[in-house]
This record gives sequence, C-alpha cells and structure tokens, in this order.
Amino acid sequence: MKTIDKIYINGAFVTPKGNERFELISPTTNKKLGEVVLGNTEDVIAAIDAAKRAFKTFSKTTTEERIEYLQRLKASIEKRKQEFVDVMIEEYGGTFQFASASFDNMTNSFNSAIKLLNTYSFKKTMGESEVQMESIGVVGIIIPWNSSNGFICGKLATAIAAGCTVVIKPSEMSAQQTQLISEYFHEAGLPKGVYNIVNGLGEVVGAEISRNPDIAKISFTGSTMVGKMIAKEAVNTMKRVTLELGGKSPNIILDDADLSKAIPMAIAAAFMNSGQACIAATRLLVPENKLEEIKNIVSKTVSNTIVGDPKNQTTAVGPMVSKKQYERVQNYIQTGIDEGAEILVGGLGKPKGLEDGNFVKPTVFVNANNQMRIAREEIFGPVLSIITYKDEEEAIEIANDTTYGLQAYVSSASEDRAYKVASQLQAGRVQINKIGHDPMAPFGGFKQSGIGREFGTLGLEAYLEPRALIR
Ligand code: NAP
Ligand code: MG
Repeated sequence: MKTIDKIYINGAFVTPKGNERFELISPTTNKKLGEVVLGNTEDVIAAIDAAKRAFKTFSKTTTEERIEYLQRLKASIEKRKQEFVDVMIEEYGGTFQFASASFDNMTNSFNSAIKLLNTYSFKKTMGESEVQMESIGVVGIIIPWNSSNGFICGKLATAIAAGCTVVIKPSEMSAQQTQLISEYFHEAGLPKGVYNIVNGLGEVVGAEISRNPDIAKISFTGSTMVGKMIAKEAVNTMKRVTLELGGKSPNIILDDADLSKAIPMAIAAAFMNSGQACIAATRLLVPENKLEEIKNIVSKTVSNTIVGDPKNQTTAVGPMVSKKQYERVQNYIQTGIDEGAEILVGGLGKPKGLEDGNFVKPTVFVNANNQMRIAREEIFGPVLSIITYKDEEEAIEIANDTTYGLQAYVSSASEDRAYKVASQLQAGRVQINKIGHDPMAPFGGFKQSGIGREFGTLGLEAYLEPRALIR
C-alpha cells in the first residue's frame, strides 16, 4: 500500500498543508492501491509564489539554456519506460499498448519543443515594427486522468520552450503516475520553482489556479463543462486560456473505401484508449447501401477485440478508470436502447470473467441517428454509433452537425476525394485514411471542443505575448 504524502514546490518534495486523503483504487480489480494526501489552497498559493519568483530569471534564459533543460528532463525519464508503463497500467488501467505509445509521446514532447526552438524566431518584423515575443508569465496547467504524464510532458515542454514557469494540477486519480514523474524530473536539476506540482481537487486546487491573479495563462485539458467554468473565472483577471475539451468525432467512410481496411481502423479509432479519448471516432458515418456489408465486418472485428487485463500485450480495451466512469458508460448504453437504437454487438453489463474490474463490453449501435444523445454527447467509453447517409453532401452535413469539432476521420480509395471532403469538416484535425499524430501540427478544437491550439508554432505562441516596438 502506497501513501503519497508529498507535493513538489520550489524544487523540493514538501508535505502539503492540506490533510484530506483520497483513495487510489485499481480499475482492474477495485482493490485499494494506496492513498494520496491532497493539497489545499495554501499549497497552491505557495506553488504559484515559487513559480512567480522563478519566472523573473527563467524568462530571461537563452534558447540554448532552454534546450539544455529540455534535454535534461527528457534524459531523466528516457530510460524508465518500463516503470512508466507499469504504473499507468496499474493505476489508470491503460492498456499495455496505449501506455507504451503514451510513453513515446512523453519523450517526443521534449524533442518537438527542442525542434521548435531550433527554428522559431522570438523577434519578427511586422509592418515597420519589431515584434518581440515575450514569455507570458506563470502558467497554470490543469489536466485529466486519461493520459496524465503525456499531458504533463506536452504542456511543460512547451512552457519551458517559451520561458514560462508552471504550476501543474493533475487529477488526484493519477497520483502514483505523478509521483514517479516528479521523482525523475527532480533528477534533471532544473532551477527551483520552474515547475511545481500540486495534487488536489479541481474545486480547490484547480479553482485557485483559475482565480489567482499571478497566473497569466491556463492550459487546460478536460471536459467542456469544467473548461467553461475555468474560462469564466479566468476572464476576471484576463488570463489567457488554452482549452482542450471534449469531442464527438465523425468518421466518414466514403462509398469507394476499402472496407476490409477502413472498418478495422474505424473500430480502433473508436475504442482507442479504451474509448476514454477525446479524439475517439465515436460516430461512424457509412453509405446507406453498404450498411449490411459494414455491419458484418464491424461484428467480426469487435468480437475479435480483446477486452481484459490491461497488462496483457494483446488487450485492446481495458477497464474504465473508475466505478463512476463505468456507471456513466452503462447509463449511456441504456440511453441508446431507450432512444430506439439497436445494439449490433456488446450491450449492458460486464464481459464474462471480468466482474471485478470496471470493464464494459465494447458496444456498437446501429439504427442510430445524429439527433440521439448517444450521437451528440461525449460518452468517454468504448461505445460507437453507426449512422447512415445517402450522399457525400449529407455525410458532411451530419459530420458537422455537432457542438464539438476536435477531430474527424475520412476513408476513401481516392486521396483526392477524401481531401475534398476533409477540407469541408469543422474539426481541428482531420485524419485521411489513417490514425496518425503530427507533433509539429496544431491540435485543438473548433466550436465547443475548445479555444486555441497546442503543438507546433501555434502551440508555442499560446505561451507568448507579442510586443510591437514602433520607432
Ligand atoms: P474534468 O472533470 O473536466 O477534469 C479535468 C481536470 O480539471 C481535473 O484535474 C479536475 O480535477 C479539474 N477540475 C475539475 N473541476 C474544476 C474546477 N472547478 N476548476 C478547475 N479545475 C477543475 O475531466 P475528467 O472527468 O477528469 O476527464 C474526462 C473529460 O476530459 C472528458 O470529457 C474528455 O473529453 C476530456 N478530455 C479532453 C481531452 C482533449 O485533449 N481535448 C483530453 C482528455 C480528456 P478533479 O480530478 O479533482 O476533478
Ligand atoms: Mg472531474
């Protein structure tokens, strides 16, 4: 049994002033793994003060110095893949496959930030003026549990590249993962106060970050509901916000697509990270006249999808992170049934032999339409709705008929045709015939999927404030 009773402030592990405890429960067995002591408002204020002091000198560092810090952070975690994968599987229930990919993203975040620094110019000429891109200030980083250390690395690497200092509030459910990364980052020996990490509740630690006048910007990943609360609070002190929120991504299968490839890819895109992914392709839009053929391939693919112990290297869908998340997914499956959609595969309850953990049956609905709640709301579990369309125009219309706009997917035998469709989709990223990641391209949402972009030049500039010198 582990007790995590330290937070990281001003370059040291300190005992939080807060004394509330939160139990860490295994998603795979529902047995208690340990406890974490939660920080309180006083703790966050101490972290913000440390970051504010560090900002004075850190914002003056050169590109070379920042590259050196990024290299050191990367080196501190690089040889520890196994430990990071193990703790993510144990605490979060992330599959071995996902946890491994997530670790690679962690180390790549530092590579991408270094690459940016090697080419980005912090001084530009616009009009007749010199424009200086200044570090924005202390950044508050608030993140969810579904790829915790991945979010920490991505946001911290960008902040450091921009010369900003940070206060990070991870989900308390990720406390063991947070502890591991804090210990290794500590070995990197960065100047005190550049990054501070405070475990605690959203309504306590997160709320203080949103309120505190010494925070200049918030980078948030999480639900649209909490994103709106943070943005409302942030405007009181005119904080800049980058919000990476939910999604209900459409996946358009055009009528010329090779279904033997496109459908297994569609299932992988729907059930990635056990369905607990903001970019999951949860609305599958298929040509009406191909429905029967597609139903067959979907049924076959889903019955071959391995659900179970996330430790097993072949497992594709692991448990939901918590009982609460399990219940949420069950409620949505019931909603789909009540709305009159038909279950093609999966359904309510736990798969046989997996009763102890928060396992759900990967579920696919047919006879669904885009007005149903299962097609409009983010479920955050392995639940897919198949919706038919008559022609390309209608496919695009259904795809865009959503309050979200994070990611979209298009499959076609013709790159050119897919490109034309992709160019009409209201989504921050569109994947054509693949599920890929470009760490130098912007990531973020249209509409209620968020505000702003992460990654690449746009991501870096979200941590900078331009000053034009007119002379
Ligand atoms: P969440 O409830 O929005 O929580 C995200 C973070 O915000 C957590 O650290 C949470 O702390 C904190 N928080 C909660 N209330 C707060 C408040 N009043 N003020 C400041 N911070 C607050 O999301 P979740 O349930 O953890 O994660 C699932 C959701 O995240 C899904 O809806 C999914 O779409 C979204 N998500 C989006 C992306 C993306 O990149 N767009 C990626 C992953 C997840 P507590 O843990 O203490 O509540
Ligand atoms: Mg929450």
